[in-house]
Amino acid sequence: MKWPRSIRSGVCFTFDVDGPLIWRSKIRVNPKFGNPVCVSLGEFGPNIGVPRILKLLRQYDIKACFFIPGGTIEEYPDMVKQVFDEDHEIGFHSYSHVNPADLTYEQEKEDFEKGLELFQKVFKDRPYGYRSPAADMGDQTWGLLDEFDFVYDTTMMGTDSPYIKQMKKNKIVVLPMHWMLDDWPHFGWNMYPSFPYQANLQSQETVYEIWKGEFDGMYELDEGCVYVLCMHPQLIGRASRIRMLERLIQHMRQFPDIWIAKPIELAREAQKALG
Ligand SMILES: [Zn+2]
Repeated sequence: MKWPRSIRSGVCFTFDVDGPLIWRSKIRVNPKFGNPVCVSLGEFGPNIGVPRILKLLRQYDIKACFFIPGGTIEEYPDMVKQVFDEDHEIGFHSYSHVNPADLTYEQEKEDFEKGLELFQKVFKDRPYGYRSPAADMGDQTWGLLDEFDFVYDTTMMGTDSPYIKQMKKNKIVVLPMHWMLDDWPHFGWNMYPSFPYQANLQSQETVYEIWKGEFDGMYELDEGCVYVLCMHPQLIGRASRIRMLERLIQHMRQFPDIWIAKPIELAREAQKALG
C-alpha cells in the first residue's frame, strides 16, 4: 500500500464509547458486572472521558472516530450530539454490544437493523465504518457487513497496512488494529477474575513507550502502514493517561509526512490505491 503525497503512515484515533452498556452486556458472563460499581466505571466514559478527549482533539485540531453502540447513543444523547457537532466520525459498534460470536445470523442481522435505523434517526446518515464489540466476529458478521454495504472494518489484525477483503458485493477495506494499540489490554482491569479481557493496570509510561515505539517503527519502515489507536474513554480518560495521549500527539506532530485523519478518509484513500 502506498499513501499519496509521500505520506509514510496513516494515523487514526478511535474511541469506543461503550459506557455502562459494556458492563450490562457482560452480565450473562457474571451477574456482578451489573453491580453499581461496574456501571459507574462505565459512566466515567461518556461523562468525564469524552469531554476530556474532545478538548484534547480540539486543541490539536484532530478529527477522530467515535464508535458508539446504539444503546449508548440512546442513553447519552447530549454527549453524542457534542461529538457529532464537532465533526468527528461516528462509527458502528453494534446496537447491543453483545459479542457477535454468540449470535445467530438472524440475531445479529436484527442488531444491525436496529442500530442502522437509530443512526438514520439521530444523524440523518448511515455509518461507513465498523468495529466489532468484544473484538470478536461471528461466522455471519462479514456477510452482514457486505449486505449492509460497509466501506471499512477496523477489527481485524491481518497486517499493519490497509487491505481489501473481497466479499460477494463489495470490496471492504480493513484498517487493521492490534492489541498493543488498544488501551484495554493495558488498562482494563476488573476485580472479578471471570472478567473477559482481564488485564493488569499498566503504567502510562510503559504504554507510551509501546505506542510511541510502534509509531516510530511504522514511520521508519515506510511501508504504507496504518496506525489505528483504539481507546475507551472510561480507560484513557483518566488524568494520567489523557496527559500521556497528549504527549503522543505532540510527538507525532513533529513528523510532517504522516496523515492523521478520520478512518473513513483513510479507507477511501486505501480503496483508491488498492482498487
Ligand atoms: Zn466496545
